Formats: sequence, structure tokens, C-alpha cells
Amino acid sequence: MNYKKYTTDWNKKHLEEFLKIPATKRLILLPQCMRKIGKCRAKEFGSYYVCAECASCKISDIMKSAKKKGYLGILILKGGSAVKKIISELNPAGILGIACCFEGTQGIKLCRKHGIPVYFYPLSKDGCEDTDLELEGLLKIIEA
Ligand code: SF4
Repeated sequence: MNYKKYTTDWNKKHLEEFLKIPATKRLILLPQCMRKIGKCRAKEFGSYYVCAECASCKISDIMKSAKKKGYLGILILKGGSAVKKIISELNPAGILGIACCFEGTQGIKLCRKHGIPVYFYPLSKDGCEDTDLELEGLLKIIEA
């Protein structure tokens, strides 16, 4: 798969479009591998979780920042297959998606089909659990 085309070329264009969208129409999608297993108190809603801000992982900081800006939603996905359903339910104008390179590329392809600009923010450490990201850079985008 040509990751560069999606994660670099398209991403730059999508960030410009995403930043023009009001926060109330922006949706943030996060991967469940960032949750702190054993401590996480996120509430489960079918195909996604909503963070309870227990402060055990960085999602708590992301929630606080996005809520303050009035984002449409901040959801923790159980898997990429939920994206299509979430788009039809919430009808976001733009998406900020945090994921590994593989999931991010799939997400960009799907959102482009729906005509939604998705800015992909890659994990700095991927895997099945205990994943991580560079928080400061992400918060700058959320608050922009
Ligand atoms: S901050 Fe949120 S997502 Fe992270 S472990 Fe706590 S409840 Fe779960």
C-alpha cells in the first residue's frame, strides 16, 4: 500500500481543510489501544467507548481540550469498521483520526469516499496496547 500518498500528501491538504471547520462539526476518533487496561473507566456504547477522564492515559487530556473547544464528539473506537456507522449517525464535517499507519490509511480512504476531510495523526508507539502519541502537537491542532 502507498502509505505516503495518504499519510503525507493527502494529510497536508486535509489538515488545511480540517482547520477551517468549526469545532462543533469536528469529530475526534481515537484507538482503544491507548486506554490503560485495568484502570480505564471509559463507558462502552456498542462499537465505541467514551472516556471517563480518569487521567490514567493521554485520552483524558485530549477529552478536556476538545470539550473546552466544543467538539462534536470524542470517541474511542473498538475498530476501524465502526467509522462508517459513526459518520452516518453524527454527520461530522471533518475528522481528526489518531491511529497507527495502517488504520489511519484505511480511515483516510473511507472518509474521502464520504467527502469528509480527515486529518490523520499517527501514534508515536503503536501495537495492541499501551500505545502512545506526541501530545503537545495534537493539542495544538485540537485547539487551532
Ligand atoms: S483517561 Fe479515559 S480512556 Fe484513558 S484510561 Fe481513563 S477513562 Fe480510559
